[in-house]
Amino acid sequence: MPVPASHNESTELKALDLAHHLPAQADYQLLEDLGGSRIITHAEGCVITDIDGKSLLDGMAGLWCVNVGYGRTELAEVAYQQMLELPYYNTFFKTATEPAIRLAAKIADKMSEGNPDLKHVFFNSSGSEANDTVLRLVRHYWTLKGEPERNVIISRRNAYHGSTVAGMSLGGMSFMHTQGGPLVPGIEHVRQPYMFNEGFGEDPIAFADACVKDIEDRILSVGPDKIAAFIGEPVQGAGGVIIPPETYWPKVEALCRKYGILLICDEVICGFGRLGQWFGHQHYGVKPDIIAMAKGLSSGYLPISAVGVSGAIVEVLKTGGDFVHGYTYSGHPTAAAVALRNIEIMEREDLIARTREVTGPYLAQALQRLAAHPLVGEVRSLGLIGAVEIVAEKGTNTRFKGTEGTAGPLVRDICIKNGLMVRGIRDSIVMCPPLIISEAEIDQLVSTIEASLNEAE
Ligand code: PLP
Repeated sequence: MPVPASHNESTELKALDLAHHLPAQADYQLLEDLGGSRIITHAEGCVITDIDGKSLLDGMAGLWCVNVGYGRTELAEVAYQQMLELPYYNTFFKTATEPAIRLAAKIADKMSEGNPDLKHVFFNSSGSEANDTVLRLVRHYWTLKGEPERNVIISRRNAYHGSTVAGMSLGGMSFMHTQGGPLVPGIEHVRQPYMFNEGFGEDPIAFADACVKDIEDRILSVGPDKIAAFIGEPVQGAGGVIIPPETYWPKVEALCRKYGILLICDEVICGFGRLGQWFGHQHYGVKPDIIAMAKGLSSGYLPISAVGVSGAIVEVLKTGGDFVHGYTYSGHPTAAAVALRNIEIMEREDLIARTREVTGPYLAQALQRLAAHPLVGEVRSLGLIGAVEIVAEKGTNTRFKGTEGTAGPLVRDICIKNGLMVRGIRDSIVMCPPLIISEAEIDQLVSTIEASLNEAE
């Protein structure tokens, strides 16, 4: 058991945090008012512990990433051995390392389950960097094909593709667009398949058709010969766990094929088992040309991300000389060795099938218990990612206490007080636990949300 820090240590660290550390995605004035961040000092399995000794069930797998759970000694040992052997070398200028090569082959094997032509891998360190790579690669590809004017990428409103300039421009979160612009030009945002908010009470197939029509209308208004690619998360994570109707992705794919547009899936959250398949697009039976992945690739033990690229695209890249793109840490051998072992753990423990056949359905059933709650407008999940929509009036999508966007953070804070780490996104509570979560822990997760909703009433 972790030993809580003494009161003095805790106070000192919080003061240093406030004095020197700028945490990510934070309101710095609010943090100061609150007396600093919650400092996490230890984690094991699905449980995280803070500096004051409070333990919480981690319903978010860190930041949608710790798929194999915390405390895997094996991953620490692999990192240690690799650091002794070769801690770092780059993959620039005709060099490579064994972990990067073996990891690329392993990822190719997993991608081939959905699309046998997806067999090449480009490494980066984060999901945002992966999407920067995607953007450059796609535009470079069309230039090499002799169609440089095909440089517009269609994305969705409320999509999240990262925090770098390219990532946030590709993303569709308008509140991000207002900071640190101007945006990368040539990105069009269309309707998101968010039934509960934008198609409430509609038939799911008709709603999906309307969303796909919005994409087609945009293709036609911009000009089909100017569209390079369509990008989307199979299930939008940070947007609020938006699970599209089952017909949506096959129709998007058909549209891309109709106009010769590349299909890109951002698998940063959905990849590595989250939806009960190695990649989220495999659940929907579509064949993207490019995929971005990160997070679950190493279960967050070390930073690493990758872009999966089809053979057809690589053949075109071969006609262009150097692809002048890459990062110091592309294919970092220690991160790659850890990611490879992480995937081997998932294989050995059959975590993908377990998510699809056991824990995913168990979570879906457990969430149904919340469906009758007076504040709950909808529960939804797929594999081990889910959301609870909070409403003011049952049977409607009117927002809690009439103030849109406040219910999620309010109930999240009560959940945290009650020992559960979840996220509140606008008016929903979202969850994305480690794939090793037990049925008993799923019950604990759902009953803590229920108790917290009761407190919020
Ligand atoms: N793409 C998606 C779908 C994500 O959810 C995220 C992060 O949450 C990113 C990209 C950006 O990844 P990173 O934070 O590693 O840069």
